[in-house]
Amino acid sequence: MKLIAIVEDEPKIAALLTDYLVREGFATRHHAEGLGVVEAVRREPPDLLILDIMLPGKDGLAIAREIRAFSDLPIILLTARVEEIDRLLGLEIGADDYICKPFSPREVVARAKAILRRTARTAGLAPAQPDPIHLDEARYAVEVRGTPVTLTPVEFRLLATLMGRPGQVLSRTQLMDSLYLDHRVVSDRTVDSHVKNLRKKLVDAGGDEEWLRSIYGVGYKIDW
Ligand code: CA
Repeated sequence: MKLIAIVEDEPKIAALLTDYLVREGFATRHHAEGLGVVEAVRREPPDLLILDIMLPGKDGLAIAREIRAFSDLPIILLTARVEEIDRLLGLEIGADDYICKPFSPREVVARAKAILRRTARTAGLAPAQPDPIHLDEARYAVEVRGTPVTLTPVEFRLLATLMGRPGQVLSRTQLMDSLYLDHRVVSDRTVDSHVKNLRKKLVDAGGDEEWLRSIYGVGYKIDW
């Protein structure tokens, strides 16, 4: 049974998350404050950590940093402000996902499962499945399950950037930097429209609509 540690000082949210996760077959451990979390992770590492940022005792960012110094344990950060996520991404805390409050527990459970599936794959614990998208940077070629897809240079770079960090949310600002080699200034809307075109091409080639996900107010991620 997978163990998920929840660090959350709001009792209602903690209880709700615990309920949903237990119902989905996870074991859970709850910390109501920041102090002692790092030590507990060291002593008995969970399979995944759901970590609120604003906590009494020690804040979530400090906790995430300390854990990253000795562990690759997957971390989902909870934040109360969607605008905060862009700043957090820039800080490169090494969180695997960011979820904004208020959230639906169902969404948190889905993301937790996705992350655990991915870690199992990376660790070789789950049957290795080839990525459904094959991107060959040298040949400048992309295939969706063997079907070739023709992309513009900008779409190609966008896809390469997203595939470089599968499962991680990249902000529009991060994606913009990768779009044009001449660093020309583009707007958020430009990124959105390139993503839209890219998603359509992938879907037309037999891909899944869900692969390239838009995270409202934050950015995009690719996952399967
Ligand atoms: Ca809090």
